Amino acid sequence: MNTSLEQTLLGAIRTIPDYPRPGVMFRDITTLLGNARAFRRTIDELVHPYAGAKIDQVAGIEARGFILGGAIAHQMSAGFVPIRKKGKLPHETVRIAYSLEYGLDEMEMHKDAVAAGEKVILVDDLIATGGTAEAAVKLLRQIGADIVAACFIVDLPDLGGRKKLEALGVDVRTLIA
Ligand code: AMP
Repeated sequence: MNTSLEQTLLGAIRTIPDYPRPGVMFRDITTLLGNARAFRRTIDELVHPYAGAKIDQVAGIEARGFILGGAIAHQMSAGFVPIRKKGKLPHETVRIAYSLEYGLDEMEMHKDAVAAGEKVILVDDLIATGGTAEAAVKLLRQIGADIVAACFIVDLPDLGGRKKLEALGVDVRTLIA
């Protein structure tokens, strides 16, 4: 890990204890997004391993994955694909249910958003248990995407999300733990 990058990112992300529930340390990246230098560094670091690679689409998970994914897609000259909470997309979709800490939720994407065999990078702000990203990986693969990597700013390694994705054969890139 690059120490100055780690310090920049750690200093730019705000931690809110007991949000949204008691016991959760919420890592709030809105302060990083509002810090021009930290935001640029974050995008540059997430993009640079793929310099020269042909990435067709960047898929972002609602909502913070949209902000990062849009910037990454622009830098990679790739398209952007939103993976949304159910009921938000107007055209034909594929949908998947996944477990949250309390209960189930569903996410979906347009069926025609990615063509079979297209190279895709999946993006979200943070990986915790990996349940959200795992569902996104399954959805993308269902329509034939070739997932090159899944990228996050923050990894919470004790919760095992990275290992869950790696067990599915996904290359995981995170900037800080
Ligand atoms: P998980 O499915 O458990 O990997 O949770 C990842 C999703 O929940 C991501 O979309 C994160 O934005 C959000 N999330 C989970 N835990 C936190 C946390 N401690 N701080 C901020 N966001 C979180």
